[in-house]
Amino acid sequence: MTMMRALVLEKQHELKLRDIDLPMDVGPGMVKIKLHTVGVCGSDVHYYTHGRIGPFIVNDPMVLGHEAAGAIVEVGQGVTHLKVGDRVCMEPGVPDPNSRASRLGMYNVDPAVTFWATPPIHGVLTPFVVHPANYTFKLPDNVSFAEGAMVEPFAVGMQAATKAKITPGDTAVVLGAGPIGTMVALAALAGGCARVIIADLAQPKLDIAGKYQGIIPVNITKAKIADEVNRLTENWGADVIFECSGSPKAWQGIVDLARPGGTIVVVGLPVENVLFDIASLSVKEITIASVFRYAHQYDRAIALMASGRVDLKPLISETFKFEDSVKAFDRAVEARPTDVKLQIRMDS
Ligand SMILES: [Zn+2]
Repeated sequence: MTMMRALVLEKQHELKLRDIDLPMDVGPGMVKIKLHTVGVCGSDVHYYTHGRIGPFIVNDPMVLGHEAAGAIVEVGQGVTHLKVGDRVCMEPGVPDPNSRASRLGMYNVDPAVTFWATPPIHGVLTPFVVHPANYTFKLPDNVSFAEGAMVEPFAVGMQAATKAKITPGDTAVVLGAGPIGTMVALAALAGGCARVIIADLAQPKLDIAGKYQGIIPVNITKAKIADEVNRLTENWGADVIFECSGSPKAWQGIVDLARPGGTIVVVGLPVENVLFDIASLSVKEITIASVFRYAHQYDRAIALMASGRVDLKPLISETFKFEDSVKAFDRAVEARPTDVKLQIRMDS
């Protein structure tokens, strides 16, 4: 253990930048990373404001942060694909590689997975971290650290687009234009969608998403999403609906947006149970798919960013110094509709 400065969530509503003991031994197959940029995620903020997410409860002080990029400063025995100085980003979730889920290729749903900043596992708002090399990905020269720290949330979009089984030329609908909704829309376009209709109540969020070619913003305080989908698809419906708002209300009439044989992908998580008309689903033979984080998406996400096909830079709203981490979180709690992603630079 080594004493390190870190952003520690002491308990609900109490954040402190202080020293804490963290494991820094670089064992076989591990790499030590000097963190450069860490994104502030909705889940980090939720632990701060609510002290829990579902069954995960903050009972002990926990370091926050899981969307990270940095540079390798030390490599453990047996690591061959990374060397000191490599710029990298990391998957925050580490499964048991021999678990049944991992062997099936679904390591994200391995019940034994540990995930940064999910109690009781510490996150990475601290200068260094030791991590398995197999969950550490090299960034190409033309992908910045700031973009590298966006790979984690974008991987959720990639997982959603993969689960949707998009066919080239599809029309998709994304409900909710928050950071994840917008990244789902970009992944859907990269995955072959001809257009993505994105719906939200907040005009500033729609303005940001609507700057991307192929994204059609719809303000649902001014127009009915079903009317817009019908108008744009000549009453056939969209091929894929991504529910990213987490609002139970979004589930009312969601099937009306889908074409017969279409797919609904569940991304947003309502806190309460949702009443849902199963019969309407059946009549259209709708497929429902869900996502839990992601698996096998980092290399693809990085490749898309390096190719220039996906540009996440416009989604970075503001960058804070590590010393101002608490300020960054309080700003995130404000939930300004003009903020998409706030990031923290560790070396400033
Ligand atoms: Zn996140």
